[in-house]
Amino acid sequence: MTEPLLKVQGLKKYFPIRSGIFGQITGQVKAVDDVSFYVNEGETLGIVGESGCGKSTTGRMLMRLLEPTEGAIEFQGQNLAKLSPFEMRKARRDIQMVFQDPYASLNPRHSIGQILEEPLIVHGIGDAKERKKRVRALLEIVGLSDNHAKRYPHQFSGGQRQRIGIARALMTNPKLIIADEPVSALDVSIQAQVLNLMQDLQKELKLTYIFIAHDLGVVRHISDRVGVMYLGKIVELSESEDLYANPLHPYTKGLLSAVPVPDPDFRRQQIIIEGDVPSPSSPPKGCTFHTRCPFKMDICTKSVPQLTEAQHGHSVACHLYNEQANDK
Ligand code: SF4
Repeated sequence: MTEPLLKVQGLKKYFPIRSGIFGQITGQVKAVDDVSFYVNEGETLGIVGESGCGKSTTGRMLMRLLEPTEGAIEFQGQNLAKLSPFEMRKARRDIQMVFQDPYASLNPRHSIGQILEEPLIVHGIGDAKERKKRVRALLEIVGLSDNHAKRYPHQFSGGQRQRIGIARALMTNPKLIIADEPVSALDVSIQAQVLNLMQDLQKELKLTYIFIAHDLGVVRHISDRVGVMYLGKIVELSESEDLYANPLHPYTKGLLSAVPVPDPDFRRQQIIIEGDVPSPSSPPKGCTFHTRCPFKMDICTKSVPQLTEAQHGHSVACHLYNEQANDK
């Protein structure tokens, strides 16, 4: 079996909480707390969860836009977490990011041609003529035209701007794209077009995606496997089909209850998750979901459930599926 393209091991991001006039550290926010996963070449791993669950922080750490507190990020045989800023800049040629708000991430004073050319200049790829040729090619690939290169970001619709964001990410011919809520800011009708484009590009260019979203419905169509995050941890990880047909973690069941199912024969048992996500600066002891879980048991307040394989290729962090923990 071939090695995964990306392997993340024990990734953590703790932000210090400072207070007092001297700014002493009085606590820490565990935004990402011991997350491990892998992504195979050519597949899409979806990462879902409510806002503040650590999914975007995870994505940004993979690009080293945020420094990890701990953990390894193995990509093509090197640990990105240990690379110098210079080496990391080189590695970013192969890993690119698509952001949620394309307008905020596109410089309003630069033409689309300049915006698309920039990654090539940064990485020293091609001369002026070759760069222009690549800009034209990428505009066409994402469904825009050569004429658009002279225009500015404000002259485009939200969907077109996201196409530009995707084109920019593709300029350096990367292997891995981290897409952080790439369709959340778009109208539902446009969402489908952008998702279809991403799927077509994946097939054509043999891309690998990490697709981050808060909406399980959106992630479903594009992902081969899905990881569900809650308060900085992955609580369930499985093949996409299996996760939707047979969710195991009570939190995933609750999230799926909120996704409309048109066919009444396939409607699931409704699980309503009450209350708000607790603060990551003082997460509940034991299972961090116990304050909202309708299946809470005694052990849940004392012992942290580990992510373990409950069924073939389907892992879950919940004591309901962990007999050993229940025996303790
Ligand atoms: Fe609910 Fe306990 Fe499972 Fe946590 S470990 S999800 S509290 S049953």
